[in-house]
Amino acid sequence: MEKKGILMVISGFSGAGKGTLVKELLRRYDEYALSVSMTTRAPRPGEQEGVDYFFTDRAHFEDTIARDGLVEYAQYCGNYYGTPRAYVEEQLQAGKNVILEIEMQGALKIREKFPESLLLFVTPPSVAELERRLTGRGTEDPEVIARRLARAAEESEGVEAYDYIVVNDRLEKCAEEIHMLVDAARRAPVRRKELISQIREELYCFVKGVQN
Ligand code: 5GP
Repeated sequence: MEKKGILMVISGFSGAGKGTLVKELLRRYDEYALSVSMTTRAPRPGEQEGVDYFFTDRAHFEDTIARDGLVEYAQYCGNYYGTPRAYVEEQLQAGKNVILEIEMQGALKIREKFPESLLLFVTPPSVAELERRLTGRGTEDPEVIARRLARAAEESEGVEAYDYIVVNDRLEKCAEEIHMLVDAARRAPVRRKELISQIREELYCFVKGVQN
């Protein structure tokens, strides 16, 4: 396999259970690294600086954009969210599959900038389950939940841009499924360029040898 890891996006409706799923993936397999985003959103109770997000203000966020310090960024429900560049580049070089848990606008930017990235969309088994999970968090008021559901409806229009859709019904099964998809993706010719050019070179050498 090529040494460089895959840049993979995991998106999904707010409340789809992406966070738990990503944690399960990291717990089970050691070839993944999770990028921690920068945001202007206020921390939720229990969220930790540098673990869940790098929390910052708009001025610092905009300064980071200006310095080209983000691989992508987007506005979501009134706040900025973005992916710091340095960690992503470092981890890909180290051979890790880097997970970006980001929303759809960011995912599309990643696809544009990195055509070899893998885009996965996670959905809960039903809308009723989605609402139940959002309400069950108990950290957001009904108005925020309504805004997030409206955003989910909008995002449902863009799901076809992703490579695969994964239904998050059972955590362990779902983590395994994602791992399988990544494994398959690593074998796609678009991500095996070194192998292909090596085979090609050897074949041409061989053909030349036979002709001479
Ligand atoms: P939350 O406020 O629920 O933590 O995140 C809101 C949305 O922003 C989620 O869909 C999450 O995946 C997305 N998000 C988190 N970090 C980033 C990021 O760095 N870039 C983009 N484009 N979206 C992000």
